[in-house]
Amino acid sequence: MAGWKRFVSLLVLVLVMVGNALPVMAAEIDSQEFKQQKLKFMFVKLLWENWPHKDSGYEIKWGGSTHKTIAGEVGRAMGIGDPYLTTFREYSVKPDEEDSMWWPPWCPDRLCKHVYDPELHFGSAPQACSEKAWDAISNYRQGKLREAYQELGRAAHYLMDVGNPYHSNLEGDPHTNKLKHDFYEKYVEGNIQKLGLDTIAYSAPKITITNPYTAVEELASFSRMYKYSLDSAIGVRCNFYDPTGVCLEWEAYAVDEALIKMVAKTMIQKTAGYTKGLIEYFERNN
Ligand SMILES: [Zn+2]
Repeated sequence: MAGWKRFVSLLVLVLVMVGNALPVMAAEIDSQEFKQQKLKFMFVKLLWENWPHKDSGYEIKWGGSTHKTIAGEVGRAMGIGDPYLTTFREYSVKPDEEDSMWWPPWCPDRLCKHVYDPELHFGSAPQACSEKAWDAISNYRQGKLREAYQELGRAAHYLMDVGNPYHSNLEGDPHTNKLKHDFYEKYVEGNIQKLGLDTIAYSAPKITITNPYTAVEELASFSRMYKYSLDSAIGVRCNFYDPTGVCLEWEAYAVDEALIKMVAKTMIQKTAGYTKGLIEYFERNN
């Protein structure tokens, strides 16, 4: 009997301990999750506040010239004829106009669908590209060729975006990143002919794609490391201070132009190679 009593009292003790411990553990997990969610929300908020669309419109500029140049040259090299070449080229900038600016609030499409950081596991460019690539294939299968090339253009956009290291590496101070991001996009856009980026895109070796989702991830991983080169090649300085010492006008400038050129040429070639692979993937499956 004594043995049973000891067993029952031990069991009661264990149950009481577990009963007491469970709510505490649950509360700790909850608060940790809450902290992580809050941190993620703050990270997104900071990124959003410092995303280039907010004032300068350089993302649109990058879209306007750089996206169209790569799409046009790559489409031509892959033998897409008009009118579909023009459709593909024109629709390669549409997502920058179409994705709503601020929805959903926890990660606005205008930011999240256009980035993918493989280290931070942040952004949905791989999904966005994959969805549009399959929409393109399904339209083609239904004989809707114009819609097919529109969707292929949109798919190419999300792929090309991560070819910009500031879309694949979100580490660092968002405000400094924004200044350098703007500078790099403006530089590339303004030097397409001078750097021969159109020719580089046309003749880029094709990279075979077996899955658009993983292709975006791969390009992002390659592109990501070039942010460190760009960060060292582009400087940031203050042009005007107010009397209290607060900077009123920041400016980014070239510290090492040769390095910026090297990154631009390397990244345009790689991005164009993957875009060729995306077109081939579409043709193989339609
Ligand atoms: Zn974009």
